[in-house]
Amino acid sequence: MEYSRLAQAYETIESTSGSIDKTTLLAEVLKEAGPSEVDKVIALTMGKLFPDWKGEPELGIAEKMAVQVVASASSVPEKQVRDMLHKYGDIGAVAEELLGKSVQSTLFSDEITVERVFDVLYSVAKATGQGSSKTKVSLLVGLLSESQPIEAKYILRTVTGDLRLGIGNMGLLDALAIAFTGDKEARADLERAFNLSSDLGYVARLLANEGLDAVRNVHVEVGRPIRMMAAKKLSNPQEIMTKVGGRALVEYKYDGERMQVHKRGEEIAIFSRRQERISSQYPDVVEYVSKFVRADECVIEGECVAIDPGTGEMRPFQELMRRRRKTDIKEMTKEVPVSLFFFDVLYIDGRDVTNLPMLERRSILEKIIERSQHTHLTTGEVTDDPERLEAIFMTALDTGHEGVIAKAIHKDSIYQAGSRSWLWIKLKASYTEGLSDSVDLVIVGAFHGRGKRTGVYGTILASAYDEDTDTFPTVCKIGTGFTDEILDELKRRLDPLVLETRDPKVISDLEADVWFEPKLVIEVLGDEITVSPTHPAGREQMREGGLAIRFPRFTGRFRDDKDPRQATTVADLIDLFEQQRGIS
Ligand code: ATP
Repeated sequence: MEYSRLAQAYETIESTSGSIDKTTLLAEVLKEAGPSEVDKVIALTMGKLFPDWKGEPELGIAEKMAVQVVASASSVPEKQVRDMLHKYGDIGAVAEELLGKSVQSTLFSDEITVERVFDVLYSVAKATGQGSSKTKVSLLVGLLSESQPIEAKYILRTVTGDLRLGIGNMGLLDALAIAFTGDKEARADLERAFNLSSDLGYVARLLANEGLDAVRNVHVEVGRPIRMMAAKKLSNPQEIMTKVGGRALVEYKYDGERMQVHKRGEEIAIFSRRQERISSQYPDVVEYVSKFVRADECVIEGECVAIDPGTGEMRPFQELMRRRRKTDIKEMTKEVPVSLFFFDVLYIDGRDVTNLPMLERRSILEKIIERSQHTHLTTGEVTDDPERLEAIFMTALDTGHEGVIAKAIHKDSIYQAGSRSWLWIKLKASYTEGLSDSVDLVIVGAFHGRGKRTGVYGTILASAYDEDTDTFPTVCKIGTGFTDEILDELKRRLDPLVLETRDPKVISDLEADVWFEPKLVIEVLGDEITVSPTHPAGREQMREGGLAIRFPRFTGRFRDDKDPRQATTVADLIDLFEQQRGIS
C-alpha cells in the first residue's frame, strides 16, 4: 500500500468528528492494506512499532530531534522551525508547510510504501549508542526527502507520538472487525484475543490471514504477557458482598508491585503491570520462582512486596520503586529484599486455566507454590458475611496491608484478562475519608511557583485518560501534598518532559506556564468529584459539564508501575461520580 493513501486517510479521519465515522474510515484502509500489510498499518496508527513486551527499541523521537530533522530536510534554520512549532503547536504541520515550499525531487521519485516507512522507522528505533542521534536524523531526513508534504506531516507526527486521530484501542478493534468480517459483532472476540496476546498487530494478522475462528482460538501462551485483570472499588461491605454474588474469597491487599510470572523450564520472564519485561531488575524473584514454583510451564500472578531486612516486616511500595531506579541491582536485593505473595494462575502445563472459577485456580496455585521465607500465597478466607468481611479488613489494616480484595467465587468467576469488572472488588482504608478512592492522574502541565516555591513547579495540572478518544483531558490543579523533597523530585522528573507547546493529546481550557509530555503518573486523593466549567474530562459523555476533583492532594506516590494509558479513565471518574450520587 502506498503511504500517501494512509496519510490521506489520516487527514480525513482527523477532520471527521463522529467516532463511528472515524472507525468506518479506518476500516476501509485496513481492508485495502489486506493480509500482508494490516499489521504495519496498525503499528503506524498506534505509533508503536512493536508491543512493549517484545523488548524492541522504542521509536520515541523527542521534539528537539524532530525540529532538527525538519530543519535539515527543508534547509531552513532550526530557529525558524522552532518558532513555527511554537505558533502551530504541531511539528507535522510545520513539516508539511516547509517541505511544500522547498524545491523537492518528489515529482521524480517513486511513491513510498507503508512497508518502507515502517522499515525506515524501525531502523531509526534500532539506532542506539554513540552517534545514534546523527543516524536517526539522517535516516528520517532521507525518508522526508522522498516524501510529499502530507506524508511528511504524518511521518513526523507518528515518530513524535502525536498522531491525534482520536481513536483508542477499542476503536481500532472495531475497525478491524468491520474491515475483515463486515460488522462490529466480532469485536468481543477480537478484544478477548487482544487481552490474551497483548499484541494488536498479531490479532490483526491472524484475522486477515486465517479468519475469525483462528482469532477465537487464541489462548494464553507462556512468554506473551496477558493484559492484567483489575479490581473495581466500593466502600460498603454489604454492597461488596452483594455485587460479587453473595460469597467471596476475601484476600489481603498487599502494597507492592504486581508481577505476572511466565515459567518454561528454567526460562523465567517477569512482566510488570505495564507489560514490560522486568526480570533483569528482579534477579532474586527469578531465583525464588525457579526454586519454589513446582511446574514445568506456568503463568502465575502475585504481588512482590519489599521487606525490611532487619525486622522482616513489609515495607511500602515506594521502597520497591526506589530499588527499581538504582543501577546496582545485586546490592539492592540485599538492601531491599522482597517476598512474593501469589494470588492467581492463568496457565499450567499446557492448559489455559483463565476460564476456571476462582477457587479452582486457587487450588492449583496451592499445589504448585512451595511456601518458603520468600514465597507465599495471599492470605484469604471464604465468607458470605459482610461483618466478617469488615473484620478481615480491620485485621488487614492492623497487620500493615492496604485493605482487602473481595473476589467472586461463583461458577463464572473467571480470570477476566484486561478488564476491571465486579469479579474483584477492593476496599481500602482511604475510602473512609473523602473521595471513595485515590485516583491515578497524569501530569500534563505546571504553573511556576512563587515565594518559597520559586524555581520549582508550585502547582501542577493533571489529567485522566479518555479511552474513547485517546486523549488526556484535565481534571484538576494540584498544589497540596508537596514537601520540599517532593517539589524537587517533581522538578527533576518533569524537566526532561518539557514541551514547547501543549501536547495535542492533552485537552485543557487552562493555559499552563509549562507543558509536559503526558508520561508521569501520580496518585491523588480528593474530597469529591464535581461538575466543572473549567475541566473538560467527560464533557462529551456527561452533558452537565466536565468532571473535576475537588481539593486534590498528592499522596507522594509516583505510579512508575503505570503507563499513562493505565491512569484513571474518564469512564472510571463517571462511575465514581455516579456512585457518589448514589446512582449505581
Ligand atoms: P490500587 O492503586 O488500589 O493498587 P490499581 O488501579 O493500581 O489500584 P487495581 O487493579 O484496581 O489496581 O487493584 C488491584 C491491585 O492490587 C493489583 O493490581 C495488585 O497489584 C494489587 N494486589 C494486592 N494484593 C492483591 C490480591 N490479594 N489480589 C489481587 N491483587 C492484589
